[in-house]
Amino acid sequence: MGRARFRFHGDLNDFLPRARRGVWLEYEFSGRPSLKHAIETFGVPHPEVGEPADLSPLLRDGQEVDVRPRKWQSPPDGEWRFLLDCHLGRLAKYLRILGFDTVYDARAHDAELAEGAAAGRLLLTRDRSLLMRKQVRLGLLVRGDDPREQLAWLARRLGLWTAAAPLRRCLRCNTMLEPVAKEAVWERIPPKTRLWCEEFVQCPGCGQLYWPGSHYDRMQAWIRTVRGS
Ligand SMILES: [Zn+2]
Repeated sequence: MGRARFRFHGDLNDFLPRARRGVWLEYEFSGRPSLKHAIETFGVPHPEVGEPADLSPLLRDGQEVDVRPRKWQSPPDGEWRFLLDCHLGRLAKYLRILGFDTVYDARAHDAELAEGAAAGRLLLTRDRSLLMRKQVRLGLLVRGDDPREQLAWLARRLGLWTAAAPLRRCLRCNTMLEPVAKEAVWERIPPKTRLWCEEFVQCPGCGQLYWPGSHYDRMQAWIRTVRGS
């Protein structure tokens, strides 16, 4: 029988009961568990861990391990790429409103989600066991039940507000929007909007038409509210 000790830092403690947060926790083991295995036994999913950076080594008898959360940085090209599980439809829409590349399919199975996360998308999920799958490299368990709170939390955690580019992505299908001439879509513009609006964007994927207007103003106001919360 081997013995080791673990201490969890920062928001990794969200996964632990209150009395076990930030203190040394005993871990007894037989066989040769990896760091990943031992850490996940405490309920902490490996993609949330930043230190130790490599979780594949086997645990040694008497080892003491400080476990710290991953520090998220914007991807080198500045483009966050998200993948959301079926419980997060509203959050997916919010992320698209903010212009982020967001894959969401309410029918996607766990295996497909894990595959997408293995291919480099950041998996956002409410399912801790999904996050513990080996092939998931980038992932976060979304905290909070209210979609607005979830967005505010995520934006703080990843520093998203500076990267947000509202209204450049189709809310229905995630495709980047393109400008379209007013004459080309004349038939589809409501008569009142024809009178004052000159700029239109269209989704090359599904054809949805967008224009700034009261809807746009409401959205901007909404972004300001969530950002302030
Ligand atoms: Zn579309």
